Amino acid sequence: MSELNKKNFYAIAIDGPAASGKSTVARRLAERLGLIMINTGAMYRAIAWASLKKNVDASNPEAVATMLRQIIVSCGVSDGQSTILIDGIDPGRALREDQVNARVSQVAAVPEVRQLLVEKQRAFLKWDSLVMEGRDIGSVVFPDTPYKLYIDASEEVRLARRSAEGLTDVVSKRDEEDSKRENSPLIVAEGAAVIDSSEMNIDEVVEAALVELQKRGLVL
Ligand code: C5P
Repeated sequence: MSELNKKNFYAIAIDGPAASGKSTVARRLAERLGLIMINTGAMYRAIAWASLKKNVDASNPEAVATMLRQIIVSCGVSDGQSTILIDGIDPGRALREDQVNARVSQVAAVPEVRQLLVEKQRAFLKWDSLVMEGRDIGSVVFPDTPYKLYIDASEEVRLARRSAEGLTDVVSKRDEEDSKRENSPLIVAEGAAVIDSSEMNIDEVVEAALVELQKRGLVL
C-alpha cells in the first residue's frame, strides 16, 4: 500500500452477499465523492463467461487455470466505471445470465483466478481514488484502508431485489459457496461497518455509509 499511497489516492472497500445492494451504494458513493467505481464481481463473471465460451469445466480448477493462461484479460475505466474485456470482447449483459450465475462461484474459488484479478484490482489505485465492491475487498484487496463497509440484507429481501430487476439468481447457493471457500471467503473484514439494508431505501443506506466513512476519518 505504501507505494500506492504516494499520490494520496484512497480506496473505499464495500463487501457483502449477492444482491445486498452494494453495487448501487458503491455507484452512488462514487458519484457523490467523485471517485471511480470498480465492480469486481463483473471480473469474476467475465472469467466464468470465458469458461462457458471455451467449454471449460468450471468444476475443474486446473482446467480453469489453464484457460486463464490462454486468454487476455484487460481491465479499464470508462465513464467512471470499471470495464473488462476478454480477448478484446466486452461480454456485456451476458455477464448476468443464469449460466454465468451458476458457475461464477466455482471459477472464483480457483486460486490462479483470484491472484490475477486481485493484482488487477489493486492496480486501479495507481490511477485514482476509488470505491470497489465485491466479497474480499476489505479483507484481501485493500486490508489497510480505513474505509470498509459490509452491506447486508436478509435473504428474502435480496431474492426480491433480484426478481424486481427481472433476474433469477441463485443468491443463496452462491453465498454459501462464497462464504465457505478456503481462498478469500466472504467475511466481514476487520474494522468494517456493517449496514443491514433490509429495511432501508437506497438514500438511507448511502447516508448511513457516509456517516460510517466520516467516523473513520473520511473528509467529505
Ligand atoms: O458481485 P457479484 O454478485 O456480481 O459477484 C459474482 C460472483 O463473483 C460472486 O458470487 C463471487 O463468487 C465472485 N466474487 C468474488 N470476489 C469478489 C467479487 C465477486 O469471489 N471480490
